[in-house]
Amino acid sequence: MVRLPAALRAWPWRRGWHERLSGQCAICHAWPARTVCDACAARFARPVPRCQCCALPVPDGVTRCGACLRHPPPLDACAACCDYAWPWPEHIGRFKYQGDPGWAATIATLMRSAPWVEPVLDAAQVVVPMPLAPGRLRQRGFNQALELARRLVPAQRLEPRLLLRTRETTPQSGLDRRARLANLRGAFAVAPARAHRLQGAQVALVDDVMTSGASLFAAAQALRDAGAAGVSAVVFARTEAPAPD
Ligand SMILES: [Zn+2]
Ligand SMILES: [Zn+2]
Repeated sequence: MVRLPAALRAWPWRRGWHERLSGQCAICHAWPARTVCDACAARFARPVPRCQCCALPVPDGVTRCGACLRHPPPLDACAACCDYAWPWPEHIGRFKYQGDPGWAATIATLMRSAPWVEPVLDAAQVVVPMPLAPGRLRQRGFNQALELARRLVPAQRLEPRLLLRTRETTPQSGLDRRARLANLRGAFAVAPARAHRLQGAQVALVDDVMTSGASLFAAAQALRDAGAAGVSAVVFARTEAPAPD
């Protein structure tokens, strides 16, 4: 029997979580279980040492990876719950592409139970979901980052239209660091009518998956340029391999 972390036991949606007890674990098919049973959460979302700026796994005792030492990103902190590795891609896909809302609550609960996510959210005066470009939003029908943010900070008024994604960008994979940054230049903008909320504020960006980090870094830079005092990020899954530098 795996004991739930304190953050999870104190979870305000605990009632809703327990109502799912009659189901089956989506990973090991144990029954009865939550959508992800305690044993699978402990096994596949196990906390590992991560770079405090980009959430890449690092050796024990290391706080920043080599890439962040060479090019400090515009994030004060970046917290990830797990690696983007089996079994998560399939379930993230179910949430994101098949619009299964049950996964938003499950993923948010797993994120909240990661020891470093809660401090980032608690320190934030403004929580901003990573925006989708309008075309992508129309196509998908919802922004998965907004659905996660709603469940991560249910008491907080979110600002889904504060940060805008002004255009689609070409896929980032295969691009080197310089090309990725160029690809994202001007891809994010702060809505002028809402920029006052950022002045001197600590901001937390929320996203489901972080791959190269270039999108989050570009979004963080746009928020800083618009007056945010500090920007951190929380994501569910982080790709393991560092992007080419
Ligand atoms: Zn399980
Ligand atoms: Zn790093």
